[in-house]
Amino acid sequence: MAEHMLLLCLESPEGKKNYVAAAFPSACGKTNFAMMIPPAKYQKQGWKITTLGDDIAWMRPGADGRLYAINPENGYFGVAPGTNFKSNPNAMHSCSRDTIFTNVALTEDLDVWWEGMDGEAPKKLTDWKGNPWTPESKEKAAHPNSRFTAPMRNNPALSSEVELASGVPIDAIIFGGRRATTMPLIMEAFNWSHGVFIGASMGSEMTAAAVGGMGQVRRDPMAMLPFAGYDMGEYFGHWLEMGKTLANPPMIFNVNWFRKDKEGHFMWPGFGENMRVLKWIVDRCNGAAQAVETAVGRMPIPADFDIEGLEGFTAETFAECQKIDKTEWKNELLLQNEMFLKLYKTLPKELIFERELLASRLS
Ligand code: GDP
Ligand code: MN
Repeated sequence: MAEHMLLLCLESPEGKKNYVAAAFPSACGKTNFAMMIPPAKYQKQGWKITTLGDDIAWMRPGADGRLYAINPENGYFGVAPGTNFKSNPNAMHSCSRDTIFTNVALTEDLDVWWEGMDGEAPKKLTDWKGNPWTPESKEKAAHPNSRFTAPMRNNPALSSEVELASGVPIDAIIFGGRRATTMPLIMEAFNWSHGVFIGASMGSEMTAAAVGGMGQVRRDPMAMLPFAGYDMGEYFGHWLEMGKTLANPPMIFNVNWFRKDKEGHFMWPGFGENMRVLKWIVDRCNGAAQAVETAVGRMPIPADFDIEGLEGFTAETFAECQKIDKTEWKNELLLQNEMFLKLYKTLPKELIFERELLASRLS
């Protein structure tokens, strides 16, 4: 399988390694998640995250019945705006040299600049269109989808196993999009076919990386919209077949870093704090955390989800992040239907049944 997925390794203080693959649509946080630096308290305990890849994973079944993945790429293609030493230091180190920048702004001494870089905006810049720019200018200096292309060797958190020809055995596959409503921060699929359904029905609000109405939810099955050159019904069928081939398939999860409160603020702090979500995922894979079954998937019991040390984030905020609003979900099913109808000719029956089961659980 050739997938639009990042690959990372979470190493416990005891040295146990868990490998995770995650498919998020473009500009939904793959590069950030792949290079995430755990919060200080996790670092002190000895937790370590290393990067295998930030965009593409090639996967195949291994002789041991597990799914193995390699990163076929040599570097990172990251969104520049918003990247800084606070949000993603490893990305900043990665693009500190030997890097190609596109559509960023230029400083007077021919260095690069973008919105959300550390420190104050320079007094004078050349914007991405080549026009003079000052902090008073109305337009953005860098294009919102301006990018850096950096060699992976520059990443201080690069995994030592990145060149392993055999690949690494994947414990968890994570799907996720950018959703202001409906989708919880974290849920686990009931089983492989439910997980394939979650990936197949994935949607995301459009960003600068996609042409279309900003903010509108667009279906992006398994984040493969920019890559799929074949029938998506058959592609889903292949996923279902792979699940049957694997004696020990990865567990499947769904995340949403982008759920908003009534005031329109992100509820979840995201970035390095995503370690807390990753920790629960890996605990689940290792049989070390409990979950409760809901209509949409399995969710953490509050005792197993670490919110300690998160400023202003309470048990109530977590509950709000995980809330299932049945009206929103029914609307979600209607939105999904558009895509499923489009693909109906080759859509595997499992996905139709999964959809029916979800509707039944919600009614
Ligand atoms: P990619 O294209 O999937 O690799 O996405 P990037 O990692 O380059 O991130 C795209 C955008 O999402 C950037 O503007 C990031 O600042 C933002 N982003 C990434 N992770 C998070 C997160 O956990 N929370 C929030 N709120 N924004 C994030
Ligand atoms: Mn990326």
